[in-house]
Amino acid sequence: MDKILVIDDSPVQSEFLCSILKGDYELTTCQNAEDGLREAKEGNYSLILLDVVMPGVDGFMMMQELKATELTRHIPVILLTSLADVQYEERGLLLGAVDYVTKPFSPVIIKARVNTHIQLHHYQMQFKKQAMVDELTGVANRRRYEEECLARWREAVRFELPFSICMFDIDKFKVYNDTFGHPAGDQVISAVAKTASSFFHRSTDLFARYGGEEFVSIFVGSDAQPAFEFMKTVRQAVEDLHIPHKSPVSPWVTVSMGGVTLCPSAQDHYSTYLKLADTMLYDAKRLGRNMVVWSNEGREQWRER
Ligand code: GH3
Ligand code: MG
Ligand code: MG
Repeated sequence: MDKILVIDDSPVQSEFLCSILKGDYELTTCQNAEDGLREAKEGNYSLILLDVVMPGVDGFMMMQELKATELTRHIPVILLTSLADVQYEERGLLLGAVDYVTKPFSPVIIKARVNTHIQLHHYQMQFKKQAMVDELTGVANRRRYEEECLARWREAVRFELPFSICMFDIDKFKVYNDTFGHPAGDQVISAVAKTASSFFHRSTDLFARYGGEEFVSIFVGSDAQPAFEFMKTVRQAVEDLHIPHKSPVSPWVTVSMGGVTLCPSAQDHYSTYLKLADTMLYDAKRLGRNMVVWSNEGREQWRER
């Protein structure tokens, strides 16, 4: 059941709204903006019904807060205004409210508007999700990677955590397509993505299809040596799928990986490290493929199957 947050200083109004909507939605009420904001961040709401005129922080200030906060800016807000504050509606809509209803409420109208906006919210969330997922493999796509990599990087800087990036690429994949056909190639990309992504389940991990037969992973908190060992396990897991390949590298489909682990500082640029990971990948290819080449803070380089 979708959750709706009602923020109104008048308990009578809140109760009336709840009585209209309670059969179809799970409702929570708050009597001031501070409580409302805290609840909105935590509660996974599909809609907020927000009273404009409240003592202290009013509905407009609250709207600004909601739209400025990453965790709440996607939640649609319907403003509740009395006929006397009809001139406020424009301001509320300009601040990002999706709609407004005037008091006294007509139960039928409010129900209809709430239903419509909840439905639209669902479509929007579904669309957003699809836009971030790679269609072939179901893992995060390049767009999601671009959106998230900098945030992860900044977190690592802030919490002084070692940060690892790994680029990897299926070996001699052109030969695979030429031998077995493009549809079979697609299945290989999916299988590799499924196997590799299963290793990245922490909330701070990011695994994405970078493009074609290339993938990228980001993870924090591991030192260089364990990160290198970890990626070797992932490389081995792909080889252990034993997908037959007519490649000069191995009888099976394999991947080459290049990565780097560093303790990032605020002066550094994320792109420098991505480039470094790419250079390591290039080395892995040059040095025979089906291997992991890793670099640490001191630019020491390790390479191994
Ligand atoms: P290397 O070991 O140096 O990586 O050799 P490679 O053949 O894998 O590299 P190259 O970049 O020459 O070729 C990549 C191939 O991947 C060519 C392209 O047709 C194929 N490819 C890219 N995207 C897809 C896809 O979505 N599906 C399939 N089936 N093939 C793809
Ligand atoms: Mg490639
Ligand atoms: Mg390749």
